[in-house]
Amino acid sequence: MEYKKNDIVTVEITDMGHDGEGIGKIDGFALFIKDALIGDVVEAKVMKVMKNYAFARLEKVLTPSSFRIKPKCAYHRQCGGCQIQALSYEKQLEFKQNKIKNNLIRIGKFEEPFIDQIMEPIVGMEEPYHYRNKAQFPIGTDKEGNLIAGFYAGRTHSIIANTDCALGVEENKEILELVLAYMRQYHVSAYNETTGRGLVRHVLIRKGFTTGEIMVCLVINGKSLPAELEFIHMIKNVTGVASISISVNKERTNVIMGNEIRTLWGKDTIADEIQMHYVKDVPCDCATNKDSKVDMQNEFVASGRKISYHISPLSFYQVNPVQTEKLYSMALSYAGLTGTETVWDLYCGIGTISLFLAQDAKMVYGVEIVEQAICDARENAKRNGIDNAQFYVGKAEEVLPELYEKEGIYADVIVVDPPRKGCDEKCLETMLKMKPERIVYVSCDSATLARDLRVLCDGGYELKKVRGCDMFPMTGHVETVACLQRVDM
Ligand code: SAH
Repeated sequence: MEYKKNDIVTVEITDMGHDGEGIGKIDGFALFIKDALIGDVVEAKVMKVMKNYAFARLEKVLTPSSFRIKPKCAYHRQCGGCQIQALSYEKQLEFKQNKIKNNLIRIGKFEEPFIDQIMEPIVGMEEPYHYRNKAQFPIGTDKEGNLIAGFYAGRTHSIIANTDCALGVEENKEILELVLAYMRQYHVSAYNETTGRGLVRHVLIRKGFTTGEIMVCLVINGKSLPAELEFIHMIKNVTGVASISISVNKERTNVIMGNEIRTLWGKDTIADEIQMHYVKDVPCDCATNKDSKVDMQNEFVASGRKISYHISPLSFYQVNPVQTEKLYSMALSYAGLTGTETVWDLYCGIGTISLFLAQDAKMVYGVEIVEQAICDARENAKRNGIDNAQFYVGKAEEVLPELYEKEGIYADVIVVDPPRKGCDEKCLETMLKMKPERIVYVSCDSATLARDLRVLCDGGYELKKVRGCDMFPMTGHVETVACLQRVDM
C-alpha cells in the first residue's frame, strides 16, 4: 500500500524512536508519530512520506497504552521541552536503558549477552519533575498584543504562554509574573524577532539547589532598563533572589545571551555545591532481569565531600544537580583512583569532574575548548583549595597529540565527557597511544558513545561496565558512563 500526505491511518505503536516518538508498522512500512506512546492504538495523519517510512501526526488515541499517564503540564505536546511526559516514569527509564543497549549492539557491535553481563541498571530520579536549576524564558506578545512569557513551541519560534513549567523550579512562576507586571506597569516592550524591535528578549533564572540562591538576568535589546530601581524593588523580595542582572544582546540572532552582563543588584554570581557520593556495587544482571525493578538510586551514599561552584549568568553548569552528583560519582567510582594516579580529563568544561578526580588522584590535567570555562575551572580549583589540577585551553584532538609528541605526557586514567558528536578520531588515537590503565567515557549520546567504544575496544581495551543516568526526565535524552580497562597482551 502506498501512502500519501494527509492519509488517515490506524496503527498500533510497537516501538519508540530515538527522541521518544512512537513507531507503528503497517505491512512493514514504519510510521513515526510524535506523542504516540508504545502500546497505544492511534489514528494519525500522514505528513511526510519517505521511501521506507513516513512521519505522521497524532490525531486521536483510540486505545491508550497501559503506560500512558496524565501529564503534569497542559502544554507538553506543543512545547519543545518535553517529549515523553505522558509516558510513565518507569517506562521512560526502560526506554532509555534499551536505547543505550541497542546502540551498543547495533553501532558498537557488542554481543547482546555480553552487554547484559556488564550493563548496570539505569539511575533514575525519585522526583522526576522540577529538576532543572536553569531556565530561559522568551518574552513576547500574543495575538491580542498582551505580554507573555513562556516557551518556544517545538521546532518553531512562536511562544506558548506558560510560566509554570513542570521541569523548572517553583520560583520561576512568581518571578516571571513579576517581570510581566513590571513591563506592563512601566510600558516596557517585548522584543519582536521579526522586526528586531522591542526591549526584553529573555528572562534567565538560575537557582543553586544547595544554597537556595537565585539569579535573575533579563536579556535586553538595549543598554539599560527603564525604571530600573522599580524593577529591582519588585524582584529582590522573592525568597532566594541573590543576584539581579541584565545581559545586553542587540544582535538579530537565535543566541539567547549577550556577552555583556551588568549586575543591577546583589552578587555577580550565585553559589552551589556538588557532593560526591559513594556508589555501592549492584549486581549487573538486575539491569536485564525483568523481575527486578529498575534501580532508583538507593545505592548512592553521601560522602560529605563537596566542591563549591560560583555560577555567573554566562557560566556553563549542569542543569540537573541531583543527577549530576550521581553521574560524576559513578565516573569517579569507575576511575578507581587510589591517590597515586595521573589523570587526564578531556572536554572538562568548568572542571566539575576534574575537581572531584583531583581529590583522589596525584595530579589531574583538564582540557577544554572554551576559554571562559577554563578560567572558571581554575577559580573553582583555587576556591576549593585544590592545587593538583592544571587546565589547558584548546581542542582535545589538538592539545593531547601535541603534548604527547612533544612532552611524552602520561596518564593512568583518562576521563572524557565530549559533546553529542563524540570524540574526534585523532583524540581517540592519541588516547590509545597513551595506554592508560583505564578510560572512563561519560556521554550524552549513546550512538556516538557506541561508535567510539568500538574504536577503543579494537585498540586494546575491554569494556568493563556501562550505566545510564537519567539527567533529563520527560525528554528522550539519556546520559551514559562506560568504564574500559586496558587488555595487556
Ligand atoms: N564535564 C564538563 C562538561 C562537559 S560538556 C562539566 O561538567 O563541566 C562538553 C564540553 O566539551 C563543553 O564544555 C565543550 O565546550 C567542550 N568541547 C567541545 N568540543 C571540544 C573539543 N574539540 N575539545 C575540547 N573540548 C571541547
